Amino acid sequence: MNPCWVDVLVVGGGAAGMAAAAAAAREGARTWLVERDDRLGGVLDQCIHPGFGLHRYREELTGPEFAHRLLGELEASGAEVVPACTVLDVDPAGPTVTAVGPGGAVRIRPRAIVWAAGARERPFGALQIPGSRPAGIYTAGLAQRLVNVHGFLPGRRAIVLGSGDIGLIMARRLHLEGVEVVAVLELRPFPGGLLRNVVQCLEDFGIPLLLRHTVARVHGRDRLSGVTVVEVDDMGRPIPGTETLVEVDTLILSVGLIPEAEGIPFVPLDPVNRGPRVDSRFRTEVPWLFVAGNALAVFDLVDVVAQVGEAAGACAARHARGELLRRRPIPLVRGENVLHLVPTALDPEAPATLYLRVPRPLAVARVEVGPGVLVRNHRGVRPAEMVAVKLPPEAMRELARLPEVEVRVVPG
Ligand SMILES: Cc1cc2nc3c(=O)[nH]c(=O)nc-3n(C[C@H](O)[C@H](O)[C@H](O)COP(=O)(O)OP(=O)(O)OC[C@H]3O[C@@H](n4cnc5c(N)ncnc54)[C@H](O)[C@@H]3O)c2cc1C
Repeated sequence: MNPCWVDVLVVGGGAAGMAAAAAAAREGARTWLVERDDRLGGVLDQCIHPGFGLHRYREELTGPEFAHRLLGELEASGAEVVPACTVLDVDPAGPTVTAVGPGGAVRIRPRAIVWAAGARERPFGALQIPGSRPAGIYTAGLAQRLVNVHGFLPGRRAIVLGSGDIGLIMARRLHLEGVEVVAVLELRPFPGGLLRNVVQCLEDFGIPLLLRHTVARVHGRDRLSGVTVVEVDDMGRPIPGTETLVEVDTLILSVGLIPEAEGIPFVPLDPVNRGPRVDSRFRTEVPWLFVAGNALAVFDLVDVVAQVGEAAGACAARHARGELLRRRPIPLVRGENVLHLVPTALDPEAPATLYLRVPRPLAVARVEVGPGVLVRNHRGVRPAEMVAVKLPPEAMRELARLPEVEVRVVPG
C-alpha cells in the first residue's frame, strides 16, 4: 500500500480537531483531517442546548451552531477532510498512521500529527455498584445521543448519578421530554457542573440535587426496577441506616470523562489529567505529536477547546516546516489546590496560558506561579470551572530560569 504524504494529520473532527486543521492549513501546511464519523462536530452535534461560543463568537450558540461556524472556518482554510475514516494505529517509528475508511485501509505519512480524539465516558462497570446488570443504565452522553439525535426516550422514571454538566443537562432534557427525573445525586458536598447549569437545569425545573448521596445498589433482572440511594460521609463512604429504595426504570451516569489516548500508547500520560503530558505548544514528549481538546484533559468550555486546537495546529504546521526547535521544557509542578493542569511543562520560548482546576470551591483564591513570579487573585473558584492564567512575556523570562515551576492556589 502506497502511503499518502501530508504535512499535518489531524485525528478527530470535533471542535479541537476542526480548529487545529484550520489553523495548520492557514499556516500553509498540507493538512488532512480524519474523522471516524461520517460528519464533523464530535460531541457538539448532540448538544442542542445553548451555552456555546460566548467567548469565541460573543454569541450564545447551540452545539451544532458552534460546529457550523467552525466548519466554515475549516472550509475557508483549505484543509482536506476525510470523513468515515478511523485511525487504527500510529506507528511512532514513522510516523506512519494506519486508518480504515469506506475504501479500505490507508497508510498516511505525516510530518506532524495533532491528536484530537476527544474523551470517552466512564462506564457503569468502573463504579463497581452491586446488583445485576439490567437494561436501563446509560451513560449521560449515550442517553443524550439517543434522545437528541435518534429520537428515543431511554425510560419513564429516572435518577441521575453525578452532577457534572452532562448529567445536569440530561436531567433537564429528560424532564422536558416527559421523563420523571426523581433527583440528581452527587457524592461530593458541592455540584460537579457549572453553577449556571445547576440553576438553569435543576432549580428552574424543580429537580432536586442531593449532595453527599450515591447509588449503593441497582435492582431488577431484565430491566432496572429501582436503585438504593444512600447518604455518604466526608470520605464518600455510605452511612449505614440511610438507605432508601427508589423505584426507577432508568439510571443515567454522569461520572466523568476520560481523555482518549488509546491510539497513542507510546506517549506518557499525566496521572491527574489522564491525557498526554504536553508543553505550552501542546507538544508531547514525541516531537511530532501534538494533542488538543478533551483528548488532553477534560475542558469546561468549547471556546477554550477551539483555542487550544488552533495553537496545537499552528505549532504542528511549524514543526512540519522544520521551524519548531525543541527547547528543554520546564516541568510544571502541582502545588496545593491544583488538580487538572494544562500544559504540564513550559516551552521557555513560547507564550503560555495555564488552565487549571481546583479540587474544592474557594470563595477567594490567589493563584501563584513560580515561586514568587506571578500572582493572580480570583473570586469564586469552583472545580467545574477551569481557571485560565496567562503568563506575560516578562513572567516567562523569569520562569525560564527556574529548574521547575510550581503552580498553587492559596485560599483567601
Ligand atoms: C453534554 C455536554 C454539554 C456541554 N455543554 C457545553 C456548553 O454548554 N458550553 C461549552 O462551551 N461547552 C460545553 N461542552 C463541552 C464541549 O462540547 C467539549 O469540550 C468539546 O466539544 C470537545 O471537543 P473535542 O474536539 O475535544 O472532542 P469531541 O467533540 O469528542 O471530538 C472528538 C472527535 O474525534 C473522533 N475520533 C475519536 N477517535 C478517532 C479515531 N481513532 N479516528 C478518527 N476519529 C476519531 C470522534 O468521532 C469525535 O468526532 C459540553 C460537552 C458535553 C458532552
